[in-house]
Amino acid sequence: MIGLSGIHKRFGDNLVLRGVDLGISEGHVTALIGPSGSGKSTLLRIANLLEIPDAGAIEIGNHRLVFEKGVRPPQADILAIRRQTGMVFQNFQLFPHRSVVANVMEGLVTVWKWPAEKARRHAMELLEKVGMANKAEAWPATLSGGQQQRVAIARAIAASPTLLLCDEPTSALDPELAAEVVEVLSALAAEGMTMLMATHDLRLADRIAHQVAYLEDGEIVEQGPPDQMFRHPSDARTVRFVRTLT
Ligand code: ADP
Ligand code: MG
Repeated sequence: MIGLSGIHKRFGDNLVLRGVDLGISEGHVTALIGPSGSGKSTLLRIANLLEIPDAGAIEIGNHRLVFEKGVRPPQADILAIRRQTGMVFQNFQLFPHRSVVANVMEGLVTVWKWPAEKARRHAMELLEKVGMANKAEAWPATLSGGQQQRVAIARAIAASPTLLLCDEPTSALDPELAAEVVEVLSALAAEGMTMLMATHDLRLADRIAHQVAYLEDGEIVEQGPPDQMFRHPSDARTVRFVRTLT
């Protein structure tokens, strides 16, 4: 089981997450929806410990880590969790001075200590999978946004993460480029990749997610399968949010 429980996070006076409980079913896609500023990105950054929560627990793979305000867990424990995850960002965040294939190889070589040749072979297979093998030697800046995001996805899954985190993976893209990214994500979902994806694209969530969680003001107001969340929501706040965006 993968899960976040009792997650609290404060930035100064701003209590951004107020006790979030979120179970993530293995082999399924969980979509995180909610208004801008509701805490979606913060929750994803906590799931891979780019941010350390003030309280709560994270469980992923064989690792469980409990947090207390003011106590930073041992770095080894942080890395153990982080290495179970891959992350896809809204703005791709490829390394600009490395070729496409070098971007995908990077973590395998530096974090996982794979020999370069083995990492390159694996990276080429992943680029094949996302339809980018013919651009292996290109610089990121020469690619379209959709192509960059497909490379970023290949990089994020290179080390076979237990959990793939996607923060608004299509938000920076024009519709036709977003569509090619959606296709890659759908294919991964069909292969049983466990994903937690923040998105404001409710149609994408409806299409790809098995489970949808609605976050408002740092709390999960309602969660359930897409049919419930989009067509028969029970909480008035979910009703209002889903109505404004469909
Ligand atoms: P969402 O992704 O749902 O739009 P965010 O998680 O980005 O929401 O932000 C939630 C709240 O946390 C916002 O009020 C935002 O300003 C605040 N916030 C996020 N990251 C930081 C940070 N590093 N420092 C201070 N405030 C932050
Ligand atoms: Mg965000």
